Amino acid sequence: MSRRTVLEINRRIEDGTVKVMSANELKTLLCQGEDVKFDDVDVVTTGTRGVMSGTMAILSFPVGERGAFERATSVRLNGVPAYPGPCPNERLGIVDLIVYGTSHDRDYGGGHLFRDLVAGEAIRVDVRTSDDKKIDTTIKLDEIPFARMVGVRNAFKNYTAFVNGERDMISTIFSTRPLKGPMRELTFAGCGEINPLENDPNLDTIGIGTGILMNGAEGFVEGLGTRSTSEKLNLSGFADMHEMNPLYMGGFLTSAGPEVINTWAIPIPVLDDRVLDNLKRLNDEIKLPIVDLQGRTQVGEITYADVWKGDLSVDFDPGSCINCETCLSEQFCPTGAFSLLSKKIEEDLCFNCGSCRAFCVGGAFSGDNGSVKLKGRDVPIVTRQSDLSGGIKIADELKNRILNGSFRLRAPVSSLR
Ligand code: SF4
Ligand code: SF4
Repeated sequence: MSRRTVLEINRRIEDGTVKVMSANELKTLLCQGEDVKFDDVDVVTTGTRGVMSGTMAILSFPVGERGAFERATSVRLNGVPAYPGPCPNERLGIVDLIVYGTSHDRDYGGGHLFRDLVAGEAIRVDVRTSDDKKIDTTIKLDEIPFARMVGVRNAFKNYTAFVNGERDMISTIFSTRPLKGPMRELTFAGCGEINPLENDPNLDTIGIGTGILMNGAEGFVEGLGTRSTSEKLNLSGFADMHEMNPLYMGGFLTSAGPEVINTWAIPIPVLDDRVLDNLKRLNDEIKLPIVDLQGRTQVGEITYADVWKGDLSVDFDPGSCINCETCLSEQFCPTGAFSLLSKKIEEDLCFNCGSCRAFCVGGAFSGDNGSVKLKGRDVPIVTRQSDLSGGIKIADELKNRILNGSFRLRAPVSSLR
């Protein structure tokens, strides 16, 4: 069996001879009928971008002079409730906070807050203290010495498609608009064949300490995530928010409240033929169960090839817009990227979820989200909770960082198997 080590790959990165492919490039070659052999590639970069509820930020920063107050009892950042502690920082003028990505103040949530922080915006801070003081101030990320994002359930290996089996519409975190039933609309999540864990399903290379890109910042895998099983793996990891790129992050407004967008990339070192074989799995081999939202029972099974055959990106044609009294495309855009007033999609905010296209009354958006066959009928995909273009983009960024020598592979310090 052919073999190489992470150390050997890092030497190749240093001397500029390393061979790197993104997962998307590898799969495209395979789909074109080309074979990729062990000597053709040292590293494959994988990626995923999606709604990842299991996300939090840990922040620590001063809000007053030493002795200014006893300890913080409640803190809000742009209105989003944070949890003070665990360190009380008694009479130090400092707050330590945990902010959930899903905490929110109406339609503004932790995901929106994290992006605004990373984009360098001033954040409103409202503190109440145990000695009955009220501190109102503002802060920017560069004034926050400690800002770490932690994913406790991120980068899921594969996920689920959802339908509503009942007649009444259901508000759900899995759809931007309440989902129509019975089984008239479908939503799904998962980047399929480019997802890191789909490419290393036995955790041969990904372990504790594996270096990653989280929202563009170099970070680490710290272990398996919550509810991770061998069938449905997910990861826990962290990175410094100061190094993140706001374009990879943000809030995502669902019909049941705000959620969080994260983007991960993980390099898979091609250590032997078994690792390479696993890297060759394509979308039509990756199962995607369809589940009824009520009761969470499985009602069908498709593959990622069935859901990623539509158009990845979304374009708006103002000439086809019929100026409806209520624009459903704008109303159910989860990121605020589409505005009827400006008659355009803000590319930096767009998640390519396809909701604007699915709900547009006048057919003013080009392309198609696709549909899937379920119990003999075509069910349209109304919302994609993963952005395949974003996953491809971060995998390309990681590839370029390896090629230019600014990212070195890190062998795990412990296995997750
Ligand atoms: S695809 Fe449409 S609905 Fe989705 S984020 Fe982009 S503009 Fe908004
Ligand atoms: S729903 Fe479509 S056609 Fe109607 S106003 Fe919105 S973009 Fe225009």
